[in-house]
Amino acid sequence: MAKIFCVANQKGGVGKTTTAVNLAASLSGLDQRVLLIDLDPQGNATMGSGIDKAACETTVYEVLVDGATIRDARVSPEAVKYDVLPANRELAGTEVELVSMENRERILRAAIAEVVDDYDFVLIDCPPALSLLTLNALCAAHGVIIPMQCEYFALEGLSDLVNTVKQVHANLNRDLAVIGLLRVMFDPRITLQQQVSDQLKEHFGSKLFDVVIPRNVRLAEAPSYGLPGVVFDKSSRGAQAYIQFGTEMIERVRALAMN
Ligand code: ATP
Ligand code: MG
Repeated sequence: MAKIFCVANQKGGVGKTTTAVNLAASLSGLDQRVLLIDLDPQGNATMGSGIDKAACETTVYEVLVDGATIRDARVSPEAVKYDVLPANRELAGTEVELVSMENRERILRAAIAEVVDDYDFVLIDCPPALSLLTLNALCAAHGVIIPMQCEYFALEGLSDLVNTVKQVHANLNRDLAVIGLLRVMFDPRITLQQQVSDQLKEHFGSKLFDVVIPRNVRLAEAPSYGLPGVVFDKSSRGAQAYIQFGTEMIERVRALAMN
């Protein structure tokens, strides 16, 4: 049965999609069966996995709103070894349509339940908002991965996210926990980043992933080729860090299962 993780942070441009896409590539490279769900109308995880989002007829939108199944909508891109439930601009209208639906925050959870045995990992790339879409991801997931840059303002807003996770845990999904915070786009030459990283360590201890993702231009270039950095240039420092992150995730999941 798949373990389900969402990559969430309501701040924009903090590396959610880069993390989701590269973790999917890393885990599938480690022989894990992976489904990546794009839950952002921007469709960046879809494009970054080599899928033309405009050409997708059945997407996560139809799954949420029209009762389509994930089996109907998922795609197996040629360039990567994982499956993708794609998204495009259509998804932007979902918020409004969901509001009137019964159990509106559990629709994604119910859809994933039908395919949990097809995968070892289901990863959900969230949009930059604490919206009904993100709430659907939090209700479906066992754990939240929070990517963050080691900058002063990164800590602001983190408490909103952590509180939301706590509330969802208390009221909607007892399985949910923050599995870990991931430091991304890290530049050790910047003193402030080192300081914030140290603060995070003090504050969050073992909730912080050991691996640190460096700022690396190859990771930023990869999406324009429709590839995860891990596939585009496996030997780059950024790709190597995400490959290590995949190993750390597998270890963390095993440790949780033993508790
Ligand atoms: P949004 O909130 O809009 O969904 P996001 O949180 O998904 O954004 P990304 O799209 O993953 O963030 O990253 C934002 C930008 O930073 C992108 O241009 C991406 O290529 C770049 N980027 C992400 N991680 C790195 C990294 N480690 N090194 C260099 N560039 C990076
Ligand atoms: Mg994104």
